Amino acid sequence: MIDTNRAGAILTVDLNTLAKNYAFLKGQLSGGTICAAVVKSDAYGLGLEPVAIRLADEGCNSFFVALMEEAISLRTILKQHNKEAEIYLLNGVVEGSESDFDHFDITPVLNSLPEIERWSSHAKKSGNRKGILNIDTGMSRLGLDTRELDTFAEKPELADGIEITYVMSHLACADDRTSAMNPGQRSLFDEYRIRLGLKKASFANSAGILLGPEYHYNLVRPGAAIYGIQPITNEINKILQVINLKGKILQTRTVDTGGTVGYGATYQAPRTSRLATAAVGYGDGYFRTLGNRGFGYIGTTRVPVVGRVSMDLITFDVTDLPEHEVVPGTMIELIGPHYSVDKLAEDAGTIGYEILTGLGARYSRNYIGSP
Ligand SMILES: *Cc1c(COP(=O)(O)O)cnc(C)c1O
Repeated sequence: MIDTNRAGAILTVDLNTLAKNYAFLKGQLSGGTICAAVVKSDAYGLGLEPVAIRLADEGCNSFFVALMEEAISLRTILKQHNKEAEIYLLNGVVEGSESDFDHFDITPVLNSLPEIERWSSHAKKSGNRKGILNIDTGMSRLGLDTRELDTFAEKPELADGIEITYVMSHLACADDRTSAMNPGQRSLFDEYRIRLGLKKASFANSAGILLGPEYHYNLVRPGAAIYGIQPITNEINKILQVINLKGKILQTRTVDTGGTVGYGATYQAPRTSRLATAAVGYGDGYFRTLGNRGFGYIGTTRVPVVGRVSMDLITFDVTDLPEHEVVPGTMIELIGPHYSVDKLAEDAGTIGYEILTGLGARYSRNYIGSP
Protein backbone atom coordinates (compact mmCIF):
# COMPACT_ATOMS: atom_id res chain seq x y z
CA MET A 1 0.00 0.00 0.00
CA ILE A 2 1.28 3.45 -0.95
CA ASP A 3 1.17 5.85 1.99
CA THR A 4 -1.51 8.54 1.54
CA ASN A 5 0.71 11.42 2.62
CA ARG A 6 3.61 10.33 0.45
CA ALA A 7 1.64 9.44 -2.68
CA GLY A 8 1.44 11.66 -5.75
CA ALA A 9 -2.26 10.97 -6.07
CA ILE A 10 -5.13 9.42 -4.17
CA LEU A 11 -7.49 6.99 -5.84
CA THR A 12 -10.77 6.51 -4.02
CA VAL A 13 -12.96 3.56 -4.94
CA ASP A 14 -16.50 3.85 -3.62
CA LEU A 15 -17.77 0.31 -3.15
CA ASN A 16 -21.17 1.56 -2.01
CA THR A 17 -21.62 3.15 -5.43
CA LEU A 18 -20.30 0.02 -7.12
CA ALA A 19 -22.96 -1.95 -5.22
CA LYS A 20 -25.61 0.48 -6.49
CA ASN A 21 -24.50 -0.05 -10.09
CA TYR A 22 -24.68 -3.80 -9.60
CA ALA A 23 -28.17 -3.46 -8.09
CA PHE A 24 -29.26 -1.25 -11.00
CA LEU A 25 -28.14 -3.87 -13.53
CA LYS A 26 -29.78 -6.65 -11.55
CA GLY A 27 -32.95 -4.56 -11.47
CA GLN A 28 -33.15 -4.68 -15.27
CA LEU A 29 -33.46 -8.47 -15.21
CA SER A 30 -36.41 -10.72 -14.64
CA GLY A 31 -36.24 -12.94 -11.57
CA GLY A 32 -34.82 -16.03 -13.21
CA THR A 33 -31.77 -14.38 -14.78
CA ILE A 34 -28.47 -14.57 -12.89
CA CYS A 35 -26.40 -11.39 -12.72
CA ALA A 36 -22.76 -12.52 -12.79
CA ALA A 37 -19.85 -10.06 -12.56
CA VAL A 38 -16.82 -9.87 -14.81
CA VAL A 39 -13.79 -9.18 -12.61
CA LYS A 40 -10.95 -9.80 -15.07
CA SER A 41 -7.86 -7.58 -15.10
CA ASP A 42 -7.98 -6.90 -11.34
CA ALA A 43 -11.68 -6.03 -11.49
CA TYR A 44 -11.04 -3.53 -14.30
CA GLY A 45 -8.19 -2.02 -12.30
CA LEU A 46 -10.27 -1.30 -9.20
CA GLY A 47 -8.89 -4.17 -7.08
CA LEU A 48 -10.01 -7.80 -7.22
CA GLU A 49 -10.29 -8.47 -3.51
CA PRO A 50 -12.35 -5.50 -2.29
CA VAL A 51 -14.54 -5.58 -5.41
CA ALA A 52 -15.24 -9.33 -5.44
CA ILE A 53 -15.93 -9.49 -1.72
CA ARG A 54 -18.31 -6.54 -1.87
CA LEU A 55 -20.12 -8.06 -4.87
CA ALA A 56 -20.36 -11.40 -3.06
CA ASP A 57 -21.88 -9.52 -0.11
CA GLU A 58 -24.41 -8.07 -2.56
CA GLY A 59 -25.41 -11.60 -3.55
CA CYS A 60 -23.26 -12.12 -6.63
CA ASN A 61 -22.40 -15.81 -6.88
CA SER A 62 -20.92 -16.06 -10.38
CA PHE A 63 -17.69 -14.42 -11.50
CA PHE A 64 -15.86 -14.35 -14.82
CA VAL A 65 -12.10 -13.86 -15.18
CA ALA A 66 -9.78 -14.12 -18.19
CA LEU A 67 -6.69 -15.89 -16.87
CA MET A 68 -6.09 -18.91 -14.66
CA GLU A 69 -3.88 -16.77 -12.39
CA GLU A 70 -6.87 -14.47 -11.84
CA ALA A 71 -9.16 -17.44 -11.20
CA ILE A 72 -6.79 -18.87 -8.60
CA SER A 73 -6.42 -15.48 -6.87
CA LEU A 74 -10.19 -15.09 -6.79
CA ARG A 75 -10.77 -18.58 -5.40
CA THR A 76 -8.18 -17.91 -2.68
CA ILE A 77 -9.77 -14.55 -1.81
CA LEU A 78 -13.29 -16.01 -1.68
CA LYS A 79 -12.10 -18.87 0.56
CA GLN A 80 -10.41 -16.44 2.96
CA HIS A 81 -13.73 -14.62 3.31
CA ASN A 82 -15.81 -17.82 3.53
CA LYS A 83 -17.60 -17.10 0.27
CA GLU A 84 -18.70 -19.63 -2.29
CA ALA A 85 -19.21 -18.78 -5.93
CA GLU A 86 -18.85 -20.13 -9.42
CA ILE A 87 -15.69 -18.93 -11.13
CA TYR A 88 -15.70 -19.06 -14.93
CA LEU A 89 -12.53 -18.81 -16.97
CA LEU A 90 -13.11 -16.97 -20.25
CA ASN A 91 -9.80 -17.89 -21.85
CA GLY A 92 -10.63 -21.58 -21.89
CA VAL A 93 -8.70 -24.80 -21.36
CA VAL A 94 -5.06 -24.25 -22.25
CA GLU A 95 -3.13 -27.50 -22.60
CA GLY A 96 -1.72 -28.57 -19.25
CA SER A 97 -4.10 -26.41 -17.19
CA GLU A 98 -6.67 -29.16 -16.57
CA SER A 99 -5.65 -29.99 -13.01
CA ASP A 100 -5.86 -26.31 -11.98
CA PHE A 101 -9.56 -26.36 -12.86
CA ASP A 102 -10.09 -29.28 -10.48
CA HIS A 103 -7.88 -28.02 -7.71
CA PHE A 104 -9.38 -24.52 -7.56
CA ASP A 105 -12.90 -25.46 -8.65
CA ILE A 106 -12.93 -23.35 -11.80
CA THR A 107 -15.37 -23.84 -14.69
CA PRO A 108 -13.97 -23.29 -18.17
CA VAL A 109 -15.52 -21.49 -21.08
CA LEU A 110 -14.89 -23.87 -24.00
CA ASN A 111 -13.82 -21.89 -27.03
CA SER A 112 -12.96 -24.44 -29.74
CA LEU A 113 -13.32 -28.09 -30.73
CA PRO A 114 -9.80 -28.93 -29.50
CA GLU A 115 -10.73 -27.41 -26.12
CA ILE A 116 -13.93 -29.45 -26.02
CA GLU A 117 -11.97 -32.62 -26.79
CA ARG A 118 -9.36 -31.78 -24.16
CA TRP A 119 -12.01 -31.06 -21.54
CA SER A 120 -14.01 -34.14 -22.49
CA SER A 121 -11.07 -36.50 -22.08
CA HIS A 122 -10.23 -34.83 -18.75
CA ALA A 123 -13.86 -34.98 -17.63
CA LYS A 124 -14.05 -38.68 -18.32
CA LYS A 125 -11.05 -39.24 -16.02
CA SER A 126 -11.64 -36.72 -13.25
CA GLY A 127 -15.38 -36.24 -13.09
CA ASN A 128 -15.09 -32.45 -13.29
CA ARG A 129 -17.69 -32.10 -15.98
CA LYS A 130 -19.05 -28.58 -16.16
CA GLY A 131 -18.27 -26.15 -18.96
CA ILE A 132 -19.75 -23.19 -20.84
CA LEU A 133 -19.82 -23.52 -24.61
CA ASN A 134 -18.78 -20.30 -26.33
CA ILE A 135 -19.92 -19.78 -29.89
CA ASP A 136 -18.70 -17.00 -32.14
CA THR A 137 -21.46 -14.92 -33.66
CA GLY A 138 -19.42 -12.01 -34.97
CA MET A 139 -16.35 -11.23 -32.83
CA SER A 140 -14.05 -13.76 -34.54
CA ARG A 141 -11.99 -13.80 -31.38
CA LEU A 142 -12.81 -16.81 -29.24
CA GLY A 143 -15.56 -19.40 -29.58
CA LEU A 144 -16.60 -22.08 -32.06
CA ASP A 145 -17.00 -20.72 -35.55
CA THR A 146 -19.70 -21.91 -37.94
CA ARG A 147 -17.51 -24.68 -39.39
CA GLU A 148 -16.71 -26.03 -35.93
CA LEU A 149 -20.37 -25.72 -34.97
CA ASP A 150 -21.46 -27.77 -37.94
CA THR A 151 -18.97 -30.49 -36.98
CA PHE A 152 -20.08 -30.36 -33.36
CA ALA A 153 -23.77 -30.57 -34.29
CA GLU A 154 -23.03 -33.75 -36.23
CA LYS A 155 -20.78 -35.24 -33.55
CA PRO A 156 -22.19 -34.28 -30.16
CA GLU A 157 -20.21 -37.19 -28.67
CA LEU A 158 -17.15 -34.89 -28.83
CA ALA A 159 -18.48 -33.42 -25.58
CA ASP A 160 -18.99 -36.75 -23.85
CA GLY A 161 -18.52 -36.38 -20.12
CA ILE A 162 -19.09 -32.60 -20.20
CA GLU A 163 -22.16 -31.01 -18.70
CA ILE A 164 -22.65 -27.87 -20.78
CA THR A 165 -24.25 -25.54 -18.23
CA TYR A 166 -24.62 -22.57 -20.58
CA VAL A 167 -24.11 -21.72 -24.18
CA MET A 168 -22.72 -18.20 -24.55
CA SER A 169 -21.71 -15.63 -27.12
CA HIS A 170 -20.45 -12.05 -27.01
CA LEU A 171 -21.84 -8.92 -28.66
CA ALA A 172 -19.57 -6.83 -30.88
CA CYS A 173 -21.57 -3.58 -31.09
CA ALA A 174 -23.83 -3.54 -28.02
CA ASP A 175 -22.66 0.00 -27.20
CA ASP A 176 -24.54 1.15 -30.32
CA ARG A 177 -28.26 0.65 -29.82
CA THR A 178 -28.98 1.05 -33.54
CA SER A 179 -26.39 -1.43 -34.83
CA ALA A 180 -27.76 -4.19 -37.06
CA MET A 181 -25.07 -6.44 -35.56
CA ASN A 182 -27.10 -6.80 -32.34
CA PRO A 183 -30.23 -8.51 -33.73
CA GLY A 184 -28.06 -10.26 -36.31
CA GLN A 185 -25.84 -11.87 -33.69
CA ARG A 186 -28.86 -12.71 -31.58
CA SER A 187 -30.62 -14.61 -34.35
CA LEU A 188 -27.43 -16.53 -35.18
CA PHE A 189 -27.05 -17.31 -31.47
CA ASP A 190 -30.65 -18.57 -31.28
CA GLU A 191 -30.24 -20.63 -34.43
CA TYR A 192 -27.23 -22.53 -33.08
CA ARG A 193 -28.56 -22.72 -29.53
CA ILE A 194 -31.67 -24.47 -30.81
CA ARG A 195 -29.78 -26.65 -33.25
CA LEU A 196 -27.48 -27.88 -30.48
CA GLY A 197 -30.43 -28.34 -28.14
CA LEU A 198 -28.86 -26.18 -25.42
CA LYS A 199 -31.43 -24.46 -23.23
CA LYS A 200 -29.56 -22.22 -20.79
CA ALA A 201 -27.77 -19.29 -22.38
CA SER A 202 -25.64 -16.23 -21.63
CA PHE A 203 -25.29 -13.40 -24.12
CA ALA A 204 -25.22 -9.90 -22.64
CA ASN A 205 -22.37 -7.79 -21.30
CA SER A 206 -23.18 -4.43 -19.62
CA ALA A 207 -24.46 -2.77 -22.77
CA GLY A 208 -26.30 -5.94 -23.80
CA ILE A 209 -28.35 -5.76 -20.60
CA LEU A 210 -29.58 -2.31 -21.60
CA LEU A 211 -30.54 -3.47 -25.10
CA GLY A 212 -33.59 -5.15 -23.57
CA PRO A 213 -34.94 -8.37 -22.10
CA GLU A 214 -34.59 -10.34 -25.35
CA TYR A 215 -30.82 -10.11 -24.80
CA HIS A 216 -30.83 -11.38 -21.20
CA TYR A 217 -31.40 -15.16 -21.40
CA ASN A 218 -30.38 -17.00 -18.19
CA LEU A 219 -27.18 -15.30 -17.12
CA VAL A 220 -25.69 -11.87 -17.92
CA ARG A 221 -22.02 -10.90 -17.71
CA PRO A 222 -21.61 -7.18 -16.93
CA GLY A 223 -18.22 -5.68 -16.21
CA ALA A 224 -17.84 -2.03 -17.25
CA ALA A 225 -21.15 -0.70 -15.90
CA ILE A 226 -20.43 -2.09 -12.44
CA TYR A 227 -17.27 0.03 -12.41
CA GLY A 228 -18.92 3.27 -13.53
CA ILE A 229 -18.52 3.23 -17.30
CA GLN A 230 -21.62 4.27 -19.28
CA PRO A 231 -22.31 1.19 -21.42
CA ILE A 232 -24.10 2.77 -24.36
CA THR A 233 -22.44 5.63 -26.21
CA ASN A 234 -24.23 8.98 -25.92
CA GLU A 235 -26.71 7.70 -23.36
CA ILE A 236 -26.87 8.43 -19.68
CA ASN A 237 -27.83 5.07 -18.20
CA LYS A 238 -28.01 5.77 -14.48
CA ILE A 239 -24.57 4.30 -14.03
CA LEU A 240 -22.79 6.10 -11.21
CA GLN A 241 -19.15 7.14 -10.97
CA VAL A 242 -17.27 4.70 -8.75
CA ILE A 243 -13.79 6.21 -8.68
CA ASN A 244 -12.27 9.51 -7.85
CA LEU A 245 -8.66 10.43 -8.58
CA LYS A 246 -6.95 13.43 -7.04
CA GLY A 247 -3.41 14.49 -7.89
CA LYS A 248 -1.19 16.53 -5.62
CA ILE A 249 0.21 19.88 -6.76
CA LEU A 250 3.95 20.04 -6.16
CA GLN A 251 4.81 23.51 -7.43
CA THR A 252 3.27 26.60 -8.94
CA ARG A 253 4.94 29.29 -11.01
CA THR A 254 4.32 32.30 -13.19
CA VAL A 255 5.55 32.20 -16.80
CA ASP A 256 5.71 35.15 -19.14
CA THR A 257 3.98 35.31 -22.50
CA GLY A 258 5.85 32.98 -24.86
CA GLY A 259 7.19 30.72 -22.09
CA THR A 260 7.23 27.04 -23.09
CA VAL A 261 5.98 24.02 -21.17
CA GLY A 262 7.25 20.43 -21.09
CA TYR A 263 9.12 18.13 -23.46
CA GLY A 264 9.13 19.26 -27.05
CA ALA A 265 8.00 22.74 -25.94
CA THR A 266 4.59 21.92 -27.43
CA TYR A 267 2.84 24.65 -25.43
CA GLN A 268 3.69 28.34 -25.43
CA ALA A 269 1.95 30.60 -22.96
CA PRO A 270 -0.28 33.06 -24.89
CA ARG A 271 -0.38 35.41 -21.86
CA THR A 272 1.35 35.75 -18.54
CA SER A 273 0.22 32.49 -16.93
CA ARG A 274 0.09 30.70 -13.60
CA LEU A 275 1.08 27.05 -13.95
CA ALA A 276 0.73 24.23 -11.45
CA THR A 277 2.59 20.92 -11.68
CA ALA A 278 0.98 17.76 -10.26
CA ALA A 279 2.75 14.54 -9.22
CA VAL A 280 1.06 12.22 -11.73
CA GLY A 281 2.18 11.13 -15.18
CA TYR A 282 2.00 8.42 -17.79
CA GLY A 283 3.92 6.18 -15.38
CA ASP A 284 0.68 6.16 -13.39
CA GLY A 285 -1.51 5.34 -16.38
CA TYR A 286 -2.36 8.99 -17.00
CA PHE A 287 -2.48 8.90 -20.78
CA ARG A 288 0.22 10.78 -22.63
CA THR A 289 -2.39 11.62 -25.27
CA LEU A 290 -3.96 13.97 -22.70
CA GLY A 291 -1.09 16.41 -23.23
CA ASN A 292 -2.61 19.76 -24.35
CA ARG A 293 -6.02 17.99 -24.45
CA GLY A 294 -7.05 16.84 -20.97
CA PHE A 295 -8.42 18.76 -18.01
CA GLY A 296 -8.36 18.80 -14.25
CA TYR A 297 -10.67 20.52 -11.80
CA ILE A 298 -9.78 22.62 -8.82
CA GLY A 299 -13.04 23.04 -6.98
CA THR A 300 -15.46 23.71 -9.81
CA THR A 301 -12.93 25.45 -12.04
CA ARG A 302 -11.75 23.57 -15.09
CA VAL A 303 -8.02 23.84 -15.73
CA PRO A 304 -6.41 22.54 -18.94
CA VAL A 305 -3.38 20.29 -19.19
CA VAL A 306 -0.67 22.29 -20.93
CA GLY A 307 2.34 20.73 -22.64
CA ARG A 308 3.11 17.04 -22.80
CA VAL A 309 2.42 14.60 -20.01
CA SER A 310 5.72 13.41 -18.48
CA MET A 311 6.30 10.10 -16.72
CA ASP A 312 5.70 11.53 -13.25
CA LEU A 313 4.34 15.03 -13.84
CA ILE A 314 1.55 16.98 -15.52
CA THR A 315 1.29 20.75 -15.80
CA PHE A 316 -1.98 22.68 -15.67
CA ASP A 317 -2.78 26.26 -16.56
CA VAL A 318 -4.39 27.67 -13.40
CA THR A 319 -4.38 31.34 -14.39
CA ASP A 320 -8.16 31.54 -13.92
CA LEU A 321 -7.89 30.79 -10.20
CA PRO A 322 -6.84 33.17 -7.42
CA GLU A 323 -3.19 32.52 -6.53
CA HIS A 324 -3.88 31.51 -2.93
CA GLU A 325 -6.25 28.71 -4.07
CA VAL A 326 -3.54 26.76 -5.84
CA VAL A 327 -0.47 26.08 -3.72
CA PRO A 328 1.84 23.12 -3.19
CA GLY A 329 -0.30 20.41 -1.59
CA THR A 330 -3.55 21.48 -3.28
CA MET A 331 -5.35 18.43 -4.66
CA ILE A 332 -6.56 18.56 -8.23
CA GLU A 333 -9.44 16.39 -9.49
CA LEU A 334 -8.20 14.23 -12.36
CA ILE A 335 -11.25 11.92 -12.40
CA GLY A 336 -14.37 12.64 -10.39
CA PRO A 337 -17.75 14.34 -10.29
CA HIS A 338 -16.73 17.07 -12.77
CA TYR A 339 -14.66 14.91 -15.09
CA SER A 340 -15.88 11.35 -15.58
CA VAL A 341 -13.85 8.33 -16.62
CA ASP A 342 -15.73 8.39 -19.93
CA LYS A 343 -15.00 12.09 -20.56
CA LEU A 344 -11.32 11.67 -19.70
CA ALA A 345 -11.19 8.64 -21.99
CA GLU A 346 -12.77 10.62 -24.82
CA ASP A 347 -10.22 13.41 -24.43
CA ALA A 348 -7.45 10.80 -24.35
CA GLY A 349 -8.77 9.18 -27.54
CA THR A 350 -9.61 5.89 -25.86
CA ILE A 351 -12.37 4.17 -23.87
CA GLY A 352 -13.08 4.10 -20.14
CA TYR A 353 -12.05 0.45 -19.98
CA GLU A 354 -8.47 1.33 -20.88
CA ILE A 355 -8.38 4.20 -18.37
CA LEU A 356 -9.56 1.96 -15.52
CA THR A 357 -7.33 -1.02 -16.32
CA GLY A 358 -4.39 1.38 -16.61
CA LEU A 359 -4.85 2.96 -13.17
CA GLY A 360 -1.36 3.10 -11.74
CA ALA A 361 0.32 1.16 -8.97
CA ARG A 362 1.71 4.36 -7.42
CA TYR A 363 -1.64 5.76 -6.37
CA SER A 364 -2.60 5.55 -2.74
CA ARG A 365 -5.83 3.56 -2.77
CA ASN A 366 -8.67 4.31 -0.49
CA TYR A 367 -11.82 2.12 -0.38
CA ILE A 368 -15.17 3.44 0.84
CA GLY A 369 -17.66 0.82 1.99
CA SER A 370 -15.15 -1.99 2.30
CA PRO A 371 -16.58 -4.65 4.61
C1 LIG B 1 -15.08 -8.52 -20.77
C2 LIG B 1 -16.24 -9.36 -21.15
C3 LIG B 1 -17.53 -9.08 -20.67
C4 LIG B 1 -17.85 -7.81 -19.90
O1 LIG B 1 -18.10 -6.78 -20.82
P1 LIG B 1 -18.48 -5.28 -20.36
O2 LIG B 1 -18.60 -4.53 -21.63
O3 LIG B 1 -17.32 -4.81 -19.54
O4 LIG B 1 -19.72 -5.37 -19.57
C5 LIG B 1 -18.54 -9.98 -20.93
N1 LIG B 1 -18.31 -11.10 -21.69
C6 LIG B 1 -17.09 -11.36 -22.20
C7 LIG B 1 -16.91 -12.58 -23.03
C8 LIG B 1 -16.02 -10.51 -21.96
O5 LIG B 1 -14.82 -10.77 -22.49
